[in-house]
Amino acid sequence: MIVQMRTGSDEQYLEHVLGVITAAGHGYRVIEGTERNVIGVLGGAPSQDLVDRVQTLPGVETVIRISKPYKLASREFHPQRTVVKIGNVLIGGDTPVLIAGPCVVEGKEPLLLTARAAKAAGAVMLRGGAYKPRTSPYSFQGLGVEGLQLLALAREETGLPVVTEVMEPDQVGVVAEYADMLQIGARNMSNFPLLRKAGRSGRPVLLKRGFSATIEEWLMSAEYVMAEGNEDVVLCERGIRGFDPIVRFMLDLTAVPLLKDLTHLPVIVDPSHGTGRRALVAPMSLAAIAAGADGLIVEIHHDPAQALCDGPQAILPDVLRQIADGVAAVHAAVRTPVLA
Ligand code: PEP
Ligand code: MN
Repeated sequence: MIVQMRTGSDEQYLEHVLGVITAAGHGYRVIEGTERNVIGVLGGAPSQDLVDRVQTLPGVETVIRISKPYKLASREFHPQRTVVKIGNVLIGGDTPVLIAGPCVVEGKEPLLLTARAAKAAGAVMLRGGAYKPRTSPYSFQGLGVEGLQLLALAREETGLPVVTEVMEPDQVGVVAEYADMLQIGARNMSNFPLLRKAGRSGRPVLLKRGFSATIEEWLMSAEYVMAEGNEDVVLCERGIRGFDPIVRFMLDLTAVPLLKDLTHLPVIVDPSHGTGRRALVAPMSLAAIAAGADGLIVEIHHDPAQALCDGPQAILPDVLRQIADGVAAVHAAVRTPVLA
């Protein structure tokens, strides 16, 4: 349920409405607009009694029942688009952002080389895994805290803010200490304790889509983060399971315009994991921008054949430069009111 207060209505009316909502056992979130306040009522479907009661309270303009199970993430609740700020980087603003880096942090020299190349190619943020969710327990699992420290070093040198994955609730503290943004990976999209902890971390969250998750399940996961008071959530489409092993995953670009309609959160696309094939990364990057994505997260490597993880989908930094140029051209071409 959303309660729209009247334009310029008195603060004490707002307090009174909040008191009635709390007394009925609900939580709330207030969005302070320039003209009027809007209250989002949380914690299950409100009773008809509560709806009727609030409707008659002084200062209340309208009460709207939200049809969706996600509230804070819904566009009904928050019609203006959210722009997530990470240092100087704005995700969801006027310009699509390019995030790039290795799949996994392999060591100091390779990371610094890649970070410099990412920046030179037009990336505005650095990605790289320190804790890796590998399918096999015998594969390289990442450098852990040392990887986080190297990412912080790369940030110091390049100025690029860092996004890296956190896999367990107990890792949230240390990852938040070193990283500018926490990534929750596809395999952990439904790890609810992790989502809650990330919601309390004070860091923006990049929430990847689980590869068998519906759009609604994904938005409910965003809701978990937001319900903890963290509204800085960026959604990342990274492909879902298809039937054809010719690609690693099926990159679901319909998710982009769909989400733009359902939620106010920024949406970015990962064409690397979404296809698993280097040759498909550039075309799907441009397609993602054409579909209205707010940015891309791309894996790059100087010598993909030697990469410790995901070499087949890693592109060379030169290709990233070409993608950056293509992104600017496509974005300029499709920036029409139809995608607003
Ligand atoms: C990653 O981006 O490093 C990653 C493991 O991606 P995903 O969770 O989408 O598989
Ligand atoms: Mn990877």
